[in-house]
Amino acid sequence: MKEMSKEILFSRDAIQKRVQELAGQISGDYAGGELVVIGILKGAFIFMADLVREIGIPCKIDFVRVASYGASSESSGKVVMTKDIETSIKGRDILIVEDIVDTGLTLQYLVDWLKERNPHSLKICVFLDKRKRRKVSFEADYVGFTIDDGFVVGYGLDFNEQYRFFPDVYVIEQ
Ligand code: 5GP
Repeated sequence: MKEMSKEILFSRDAIQKRVQELAGQISGDYAGGELVVIGILKGAFIFMADLVREIGIPCKIDFVRVASYGASSESSGKVVMTKDIETSIKGRDILIVEDIVDTGLTLQYLVDWLKERNPHSLKICVFLDKRKRRKVSFEADYVGFTIDDGFVVGYGLDFNEQYRFFPDVYVIEQ
């Protein structure tokens, strides 16, 4: 395999510190309550695992998987649910956890899908936010880091199913 050119963007130490800050904010906002935390597969699995272990309030865990058709590095606008949640969320406080929001199309689709189940509340926590690339107006409630354009890998994020296991986050040259 040709060695990719990559540059570190966030170290594991910087990530750990930011995850602790986010968890503190979330714990404060939901103090005394309970959460259903829904991760979006596959990219959110590492971020979600770290986050829920820092949130000091009880939570149930579930996952969804969505497919977005089009180029491998960008959503096409056609998003389809391929694995639904298995937990009842009616009347519950929901936190969606996602690796990265780019155009916003994936999360917009998912929020609409989950709102039909009548949760009590629904908030979104993203590890990374490519704010300038939105195609729909969409704001996450909790954001780890805002980044510029560029394709990132590591800490759960892949390129063609590679590099998810990297503990740090890199920008790659494609
Ligand atoms: P959106 O629907 O917001 O355009 O896209 C969100 C999805 O696009 C993410 O869940 C992720 O799968 C993919 N994506 C967008 N930008 C990046 C990136 O820089 N790196 C990786 N690995 N995936 C990305």
